[in-house]
Amino acid sequence: MNLEIFHAAADARSYPFTNANLLINTVRNAGTNGDVRETKQLLEIATPRHVFLDCGGSSIYYAEKKGKEILCDPSRPVYKKSKTKLNLTPEHVIKAAIEFKPRTIVALDWPLQPKKTKAEQEKEFQRKLLINLAWAKETAKLWQKHCPDASFMIPIQAKTLDQFEEFMEGLSGLKFTGVSLPYRNVNPKLLVQFLIRLHQLKIPWVHILGTTSFAYLGIAAYFARQNLFKLVSLDSSSWKASGNSSSYMSPHNLLSCKINEHTFIPEKLRNDCLCPFCRNKTFQDISFDMFGSRSLLLSCHNAWVTEQVARDLYRNARSLSQLKHYMMNKKSPNQKEVRRAIDALSLVENMKI
Ligand SMILES: [Zn+2]
Repeated sequence: MNLEIFHAAADARSYPFTNANLLINTVRNAGTNGDVRETKQLLEIATPRHVFLDCGGSSIYYAEKKGKEILCDPSRPVYKKSKTKLNLTPEHVIKAAIEFKPRTIVALDWPLQPKKTKAEQEKEFQRKLLINLAWAKETAKLWQKHCPDASFMIPIQAKTLDQFEEFMEGLSGLKFTGVSLPYRNVNPKLLVQFLIRLHQLKIPWVHILGTTSFAYLGIAAYFARQNLFKLVSLDSSSWKASGNSSSYMSPHNLLSCKINEHTFIPEKLRNDCLCPFCRNKTFQDISFDMFGSRSLLLSCHNAWVTEQVARDLYRNARSLSQLKHYMMNKKSPNQKEVRRAIDALSLVENMKI
């Protein structure tokens, strides 16, 4: 299957299962020497199938939001715990790659902040375009020098079709394996429009960064199943965030429901999940489990069902009408977004690409 799910935010105490695809991150996993040690331990015990090293651009996004100073000095540490500054460069990304030997590396990027007006948004894009292109090229140079066997992805920081074209033009001549599209920059329609263009540009692999929601999984499944890309992938940390808040994600549509000792569970409500973690367990069993073991069990279950739902969507994406029928019947937690995703996918059929 050319649709893959990566699980972000794993650590040695809580990872989904062995042989899973894991997404690690330059700041989170290599910010300090202790992080490097712990991550190596995680990789040793979890034996992931595919390790995807994200650049840490999202840390720049949050640091900038909080008004921290952003430094770009390869000779200094990341200052992960500092309340006033963050330091990140392509060198930091490649240093982490040398430590962890991931199968895939993402170029460093400076994410776009949301802006109120179109003019401000365009200014934000133009201000960061030069930095983003320079960092992509610099990371590419270091990738070729230090870890040329890894796949190399470039994050596209654009919020309109015109910006997307300008960004892609700026990459011309650069060698890379695929691109990543940060979920926070796109709605379902824009995602589909970007994917159509990436297909036309013959980009083989697209990674949708930061979401495994039902609607976005459906879009990814459709493009993968129609063979418009060699590989489509997505990642999120919702398996763990939900697990840590004692939430069970539905194996049918990923609806997240809290299960703890205070939850009223009707007698007739059966747990029909077939995952190896909660098979043969009732919701009552799970609710009365201790917090720590319940969180771990639910995290593992959530990761497993995310992959299962992706497989089910893929199986049902032979045609758009089949996918529409399947997705609408599953009554996902966000039907509005599902409808938008299906409407957006009709663009693919109409364009006959
Ligand atoms: Zn389960």
